[in-house]
Amino acid sequence: MACVDLESVSKNFGAVSVLRDISLSIESGKFVALVGPSGCGKSTLLRMIAGLEDVSAGTIKIADRRVNDVPSKDRDISMVFQSYALYPHMSVKENMAFSLKIRSTPTPIVEERVAKAAEILELTGLLDRHPRQLSGGQRQRVAMGRAIVRDPAVFLFDEPLSNLDATLRVQMRAEIKELHHRLGNTMIYVTHDQVEALSMADIVVVMRGGKIEQAGPPLKLYDEPANIFVAQFIGSPAMNILYGETVVEDGGPAVRLKGGDVIALPRHVKVAPNKQVAVGLRPNVFSLGGDGLRAQVVVTEALGAETQIVARLRDTSAKPLILQFNQRMQASPGDDLRLTVDTDGVHLFDAETHMRIQ
Ligand code: ADP
Ligand code: MG
Repeated sequence: MACVDLESVSKNFGAVSVLRDISLSIESGKFVALVGPSGCGKSTLLRMIAGLEDVSAGTIKIADRRVNDVPSKDRDISMVFQSYALYPHMSVKENMAFSLKIRSTPTPIVEERVAKAAEILELTGLLDRHPRQLSGGQRQRVAMGRAIVRDPAVFLFDEPLSNLDATLRVQMRAEIKELHHRLGNTMIYVTHDQVEALSMADIVVVMRGGKIEQAGPPLKLYDEPANIFVAQFIGSPAMNILYGETVVEDGGPAVRLKGGDVIALPRHVKVAPNKQVAVGLRPNVFSLGGDGLRAQVVVTEALGAETQIVARLRDTSAKPLILQFNQRMQASPGDDLRLTVDTDGVHLFDAETHMRIQ
């Protein structure tokens, strides 16, 4: 186990700046997910921690030791790649033992570590097979096994589940999480999938364009997104964002939307009137009836236990609303809806800076 500290880390490829001023402290034993759209710099950051890319500026520390100039093999890390990178001509057992053997680990210790990792990953019966004789999920486990046998201070994962089908992905997600509980090592996990990040990690780090937008526990990011980008990136379907201006209505704070409808804000929100704002509403904060928002059904999706409705607001320049109800409902295209919004579920952002207002 080890803590990992990034201090004002930057990365340029030639003249192109890919990561800018990244600072992050990862406590020993934590499971941290780096999540963000493709191309935002997740893999580059992970590869810098692994020692596979140079650091352009700043400091990377593992277990309080500056490792900027320490070769990858001396950093006490193991990395699992999306492509697994198994040796095709070696058996499962040989694949798992390889990194120990090249470090001249005594054979009895190699045998013991491989046997133990195989047991944890339920690979014991497959040790003599070759990668081509394994399913995608089994190959993924061998790649994990290869990392585990080293018992590194820090595990680094780069989208290790992306090549698996949806069902297997959910299963492996749970297995990796369980593995973390069992081993207790620090894990840094890169994914573009926010569900994966939320469901697995102790701390989620949302990145965009080479910068950290917000870092924190999953529910903190969900409940108090720092800006509109995080608000819409975390949670599915994405949060609805509606633009308007602040007003006082019935003695309390509220927002008058561009289409004329008014949404009440929680009483404790202190915001000056006539301010341009964006209101964030998750799809599940609506209920039918009352004299709230007016909308018109565009599409209804019956998903079994729940119903999702796409609806158009009176402000025709606004994106359609996504509504989610935990029940079956009859609603046809063209139907008029009146929607009441759960006031506690209202998020408020500055329309100009996109930052959260509290
Ligand atoms: P992610 O893993 O979040 O999808 P990457 O870290 O792979 O993103 O890439 C971040 C950015 O850096 C991308 O714009 C990518 O094109 C660029 N990049 C990555 N590796 C190199 C490289 N070796 N040379 C030049 N640009 C690179
Ligand atoms: Mg990547």
